Amino acid sequence: APAETPQVVVDAHGLPYLDGRLPVKRRVADLLARMSLEEKAGQMTQAERGALTAPGDIAAYDLGSLLSGGGSAPTPNTPEAWAKMIDSFQLRTRATRLQIPLIYGVDAVHGHNNVAGATIMPHNIGLGATRDPRLAQETAAVTAAEVRATGVPWDFAPCLCVARDDRWGRTYESFGEDPALVDAMATVVQGLQGRADGRDLDRADKVLATAKHFVGDGGTAYGSSTTGTYTIDQGVTRVTRQELEAVHLAPYRTAVDRGVGTVMPSFSSLDLIGDGRGPVKMHARADMLDGVLKDRMGFDGFVISDWQAIDQLPGDYASDVRTSVNAGLDMIMVPYAYRDFRTTLVDEVRAGRIDERRIDDAVSRILTQKFRLGLFERPYADTSGAADIGSAAHRAVAREAAAESQVLLKNAGGALPLKKHQKVYVAGSNADDIGNQSGGWTITWQGASGDITPGTTVLEAMRKHSPDLTYSEDASAPTRGHDVGVVVVGETPYAEGAGDVGNGHDLELSAADRAAVDKVCAAMTCAVLVVSGRPQLIGDRLGAIDALVASWLPGTEGDGVADVLYGRRPFTGQLPVTWPKSEAQLPINVGDSSYDPQFPYGWGLTTLTKVPQGGAATLKALGAAAAAAERAGAEETGRALVAKARLIVQHEAADRITEAVAKPFADADHLLLTGRYGAAVQKLTQAYRAA
Ligand code: BGC
Repeated sequence: APAETPQVVVDAHGLPYLDGRLPVKRRVADLLARMSLEEKAGQMTQAERGALTAPGDIAAYDLGSLLSGGGSAPTPNTPEAWAKMIDSFQLRTRATRLQIPLIYGVDAVHGHNNVAGATIMPHNIGLGATRDPRLAQETAAVTAAEVRATGVPWDFAPCLCVARDDRWGRTYESFGEDPALVDAMATVVQGLQGRADGRDLDRADKVLATAKHFVGDGGTAYGSSTTGTYTIDQGVTRVTRQELEAVHLAPYRTAVDRGVGTVMPSFSSLDLIGDGRGPVKMHARADMLDGVLKDRMGFDGFVISDWQAIDQLPGDYASDVRTSVNAGLDMIMVPYAYRDFRTTLVDEVRAGRIDERRIDDAVSRILTQKFRLGLFERPYADTSGAADIGSAAHRAVAREAAAESQVLLKNAGGALPLKKHQKVYVAGSNADDIGNQSGGWTITWQGASGDITPGTTVLEAMRKHSPDLTYSEDASAPTRGHDVGVVVVGETPYAEGAGDVGNGHDLELSAADRAAVDKVCAAMTCAVLVVSGRPQLIGDRLGAIDALVASWLPGTEGDGVADVLYGRRPFTGQLPVTWPKSEAQLPINVGDSSYDPQFPYGWGLTTLTKVPQGGAATLKALGAAAAAAERAGAEETGRALVAKARLIVQHEAADRITEAVAKPFADADHLLLTGRYGAAVQKLTQAYRAA
């Protein structure tokens, strides 16, 4: 803390809420009873730090929270500057009557992505491909440690969206198209927060998490938004109640059980078939926020709105405030309108249009998390973990995640892994670009191509294995004399609606990338790596490509990609979303009646050198062993047995991917994630027979 900072001395005033020995509930009740309506309304107000007209506004309006949002003013770019900035804001709260610390929030959606030099993890879609909830939890723990070390106690993550249409610009923020997969990955809540009862939140390496965007953000229909013909982000999710429960709500039940501290409603509208209401914005849906989330699921954290989202509600501003708070919003993200919001909220309560008990409930929820985070005792940044930001140990976790996320879609003639003696030719727009391989939400909201933060590009990592490789981004160097080509293609960064297909993006490879693929694959054995936030259309080109890899957005550790490319470890990733043949097939999801993708959900070959041999009888035996492992609670063994079964099936059926094969694969995936190993092998046996 700054030298001139008056320290908070526990129990200094003899007030119960400042006594750290008392239970949180008691402290909340004591503090609430001392607060004026204005002070309460201030706690419910979150401003964008770049929009503060003067730092004094923090005290003048009793602001409960600040954020650095995606579309905000440039943020500091060193850990020290972050800690100093947040401390300076926190210091302002010392000038208020009750000295309630503010809670600062950021979007650290794949590592502490606002800070140059931080460890950047694969985006969620890559984590989904790992099928490794434990590793995902570890990446989140690294993120939490790096975020808290800069003085930030709150992270607007994870996105628990179940992405159902690749045309959505936020597809890469999703763990996948299958609710069971998203649900399994909710372990990241523990990685961020620690134990489910909130007892770890005051640690210097934990942060409060946000499950977002509640609910149905990944289910919006293409072209259904009122803001633009081709928009899918923030659009309308039209589903039956049954589909809502099974697909979109399922992961939230788990997140709530895991003790997630905050939930952010979605910008989108929900059109619940049969309820007669038509599309209603989630920020106005009391039935979902108050009813389902708080009442039925028992969520006891607080609900934070999305960015300026209440402005999208019909009616005047007073009605926006009233509708959203009465629907169950506890804190409102009003980046710019913080003064108006607070005044309007107070007026609405005074006029009797919002019950003060609703305000007390909201403020109690907010204060509870602030107490749990230890902010009253230690409001200033504890930077003891700052030296670990971007450390080798943290990068090792990201590297492992990047390696496990690689999905080998095709491998004709055993083109991969690359062999040491081979002369390698590398091309493509995403071979040597740290910004492109990190994607959106990196340093800036939209992300950017180029050297935006320290890390290792795929090319740099490959050079460590093949010192004399030839690199030519557009394949303009002569191809002669090389044994194998690696063409790294894919997308450039985007975030949110800017990435919607039709909004300046499509799923086609760029002309330059197509030319590079065509040239290299015509000249030699070639592997194509697709570095992108979602499937890209390969179409007929697949025939000319020997090996195809979905690399997703691996983040700063290109070494993880090279690890599998060179066989330092096997490819084990599996598709978290279906890979379509054409845009006309979208939306496409496993279980669709007309399912005929280029690669089915769950697909992924392996480069394990020893592929186990065996027919249906071997699979049957594996199934029995897996069932026994399950009864004995031997999770590791069960997983290993299923993996082995999967290898047998995939290896022998690789060229004949039919719906009959795809379906049991997806079913086996569900079973694996829920730990039903014997049944998972049975499903694979079916797939084997079908092929
Ligand atoms: C996004 C949220 C994000 C918020 C704050 C919004 O535009 O939808 O996911 O948490 O901005 O940056």
